[in-house]
Amino acid sequence: MTDVSDPIPVPAPSAASAPFWDSTRSRVLSMQRCAACRLLVWYPRHLCRYCGATDLVWEQLSGRGVVYAVSVHHRPALPALADKVPYSVVLIDLDEGARVMSTVFGPPPAVGDAVTVSWLPLDDGRHLPIFEPR
Ligand SMILES: [Zn+2]
Repeated sequence: MTDVSDPIPVPAPSAASAPFWDSTRSRVLSMQRCAACRLLVWYPRHLCRYCGATDLVWEQLSGRGVVYAVSVHHRPALPALADKVPYSVVLIDLDEGARVMSTVFGPPPAVGDAVTVSWLPLDDGRHLPIFEPR
């Protein structure tokens, strides 16, 4: 039986991801940039995935991007999503150059659509970044 009051499960912040989650409290999308090779690093971690450097600096992103891929879900993956179907799991190419996985609720976007970050409030003051058309 589906309980629509179930919250969407969200990971607890780790030492690496705490700055990301802290920025969601003020609805700011942030990501680490490697000080050595200058590439954006997603998801949060302690070492650069490209060059292995440990000097990763948090920076604020625009939250704007373009849809790279879409998977429309007609069955909810979680009870908390039962009233949101169909929804789309998407890959977004952010304007700053990183690719992230996220969700679009409402009509499915098309590949190439311009999107911007939106925020789903969580019970503990954090927000979950999702995307919407712009
Ligand atoms: Zn690097």
